Amino acid sequence: MVTKVAWDMSKNSIPFTNSQIVAAFEQRTGKSKARHLKALEVFPSGIVHDSRHMKPYPLTIERAEGAWKWDTDGNRYIDYFGGHGSLLLGHAHPSMVAAVNAQIGLGTHPAACHDLELQWGLLVKRLIPSAERVRFTSSGTEANSMAIRLARAFTGRNKLVRFKSHFHGWQDHVAFGSKFAGTKHVPGIVDGIVENVIVADPADPRAVRDTLETDDNIAAVILEPTGASSGQVPLGRDFVEMLRDVTAARGIVLIFDEVVTGFRVSPGGAQAALGLLPDLTTLAKILSGGLPGGAVCGRRDIMELLDFEAAETKGFEKIPHQGTFNANPLSAAAGTAMLRRVADGEGTEKANEQGRKLTAAWNRVFAEEGVAWAAYGQGSCVYFFTNPDAMDIDPLNFDAAAQPVPVMEKAGEHAAAKLFRLALLVNGVDVNAKPGAIVSAAHSDDDIAETAEATRQALGMLKAEGLIPVR
Ligand code: PMP
Repeated sequence: MVTKVAWDMSKNSIPFTNSQIVAAFEQRTGKSKARHLKALEVFPSGIVHDSRHMKPYPLTIERAEGAWKWDTDGNRYIDYFGGHGSLLLGHAHPSMVAAVNAQIGLGTHPAACHDLELQWGLLVKRLIPSAERVRFTSSGTEANSMAIRLARAFTGRNKLVRFKSHFHGWQDHVAFGSKFAGTKHVPGIVDGIVENVIVADPADPRAVRDTLETDDNIAAVILEPTGASSGQVPLGRDFVEMLRDVTAARGIVLIFDEVVTGFRVSPGGAQAALGLLPDLTTLAKILSGGLPGGAVCGRRDIMELLDFEAAETKGFEKIPHQGTFNANPLSAAAGTAMLRRVADGEGTEKANEQGRKLTAAWNRVFAEEGVAWAAYGQGSCVYFFTNPDAMDIDPLNFDAAAQPVPVMEKAGEHAAAKLFRLALLVNGVDVNAKPGAIVSAAHSDDDIAETAEATRQALGMLKAEGLIPVR
């Protein structure tokens, strides 16, 4: 019998002992636990990606299809992790499976040019408004690495400006000074890099503008164009427009990291939705249809720094670029199949529509349950405002974009947020760790109704443990 304890709500997180929610999770997921104990002997923390770190232990998933996935104990979950945002059409979509199956027998690595990479690149050019030239990489981290190098080489300047809590992968120039990696230096990153990166605060647009207007050594500004963490901390269009204007005037390269927003916010990404074009764009995730891949694309004169002939004719030193699996045929096959769906108008609008329905359904549950939390977001990217400072909000009328940046930076930081996620898992729903949801075109209205009911149950579990007020 698990006893109810008085939680110290002033603490940022709640101990995972004496919780009915943890007990219920452990009761359902014995095989995941057994596998995790073995994984601890192989991987640091038993995981291969930081976002899978979870208490008491992460799930082991055996298979997935459409909007659902099943763990090794046979439990079914409605999946809102969405392959970290790569699965616009859901798991194992028949068109992706067919594309990969058709290619795999023809070889996975010709070590040569192939037609699929051309088809894929043409689709990127057709869909992304600012893409004059494209170069494929193997991940979003690599794409950002190349974009930053291109900007430095093009401008002959050193500094990179990026924004607090905006995520751009784990390479040296971007892996410190955000909430994802603490505010201190990450061990292993040399001082020379840290000194050449300015982590700016979008809460203070005037200071950002001043920096861009006065520092003559800034090569690039990189940002997530819908806001930090795929829009969890929304960014107004005015701010992005200010960045576009100042960078253009100062000859600074503006980079949109559209690794998540590309093909998701709209077929042409956030840039098409905002009507603001960056100089360089980085892509990954949906780009390669659920397989590994990334790309940097943008202005022809900047991308020319990768061009052998231009370097020879114009007499500059080319930026070297290799990568064993760049545009490998399997990723190119899945990516081409995916972008054809995006180009046909399928996928993006459906996922966004289902995302809006899920947001509304969640807010109805919060209102009905008397919980002062809210769901918000842009289309298929949905987040929970867990209201850690107990503001007086109405879930049915919560305007995330109107809140100050510091308020939204704490959106997911209620002391009970991690147990909420666990309680949702106990009720058959897997949301991501923000906490939030990435919705696909495979999520049906029935899935959304089932999710709403599961959320009601999960909130009941939090209330039973005294973690949120009962009204
Ligand atoms: N940029 C953004 C906005 C991302 O969300 C991510 C991945 N979550 C990355 C870059 C890094 O991409 P990858 O994991 O493919 O290296």
